[in-house]
Amino acid sequence: MTVLKINIAIDGYSGCGKSSTAKAVAKVLGYTYIDTGAMYRAVTLYFQRNHIDIYNEKAVENALKNIEIRFAFNESDQKAHVFLNGEDVEEQMRTPEVAAFVSPVATISSVRRFLVHQQQEMGKDKGVVMDGRDIGTVVFPDAECKFFLVADIDIRTERRIKELKFGGIDSSFDAVKHNLIERDFIDSNREDSPLRKAEGAIEIDTS
Ligand code: C5P
Repeated sequence: MTVLKINIAIDGYSGCGKSSTAKAVAKVLGYTYIDTGAMYRAVTLYFQRNHIDIYNEKAVENALKNIEIRFAFNESDQKAHVFLNGEDVEEQMRTPEVAAFVSPVATISSVRRFLVHQQQEMGKDKGVVMDGRDIGTVVFPDAECKFFLVADIDIRTERRIKELKFGGIDSSFDAVKHNLIERDFIDSNREDSPLRKAEGAIEIDTS
C-alpha cells in the first residue's frame, strides 16, 4: 500500500517552540525534520569567520559559492546536526554572536534565494516537517498543512535562556529578550519574504 506523504510548514516568531514541535511531529510521522533557521545561522557563521561585508552584494554572492550546507543525524544526541563545508557547527551557530547577526543576514535576497532553493529540493518528494519564517508563504506555499506559532515574549525569553544554558551558555534575561524582539522586528519588516502568517495557517499560542 502506498502511503501518501504531505509537507508540514511551521512558521512563527523566535522561541515559540517551532523546533521542538516540528521535531516531535516528524518523529511521530516518520518524516524528515528540517530546521531552516540553522541554515541561516550556518551562513551567518561563515560570513563572520570570513569577515564578509554583508552590505557588499558581490562579496556576499562570491561567498555563497563557497558554502555547502547539509544535515546529518548525530547518534550521540539523537538529532540532526548542521554541517558547514563538512564541519559540524551545531554548537558554534547557537552562540549569542551568531544570534545577533543572523537576522540582518537573512534580509539579503541572494542569501534567501540560495537557501530557499535547497529547502525546496529537500521537500520535493514530500514527507518533510520544516520550520522557519517563510515556509508556508514562500518555500512551500502549497504545503498541505501550515501552522503559525506565537507565544508571550517573557515565556519565549525564559525558554531561550534554558536552551542556551543547556548548551553551556549563561545569558541575562534582558539581553536575550532584546535579541528576540530585535530579530522579530527585522524578520517581520524586511522587504524580501517577511515573517507573516500564511494564508490557511492554523495559529497556535504556545504560551
Ligand atoms: O529559527 P532560528 O531562531 O534559529 O532562526 C534564526 C534567524 O534566521 C531568524 O531570526 C531569521 O532571521 C532567520 N530565518 C529566516 N527564515 C527562515 C528561518 C530563519 O529568515 N526560514
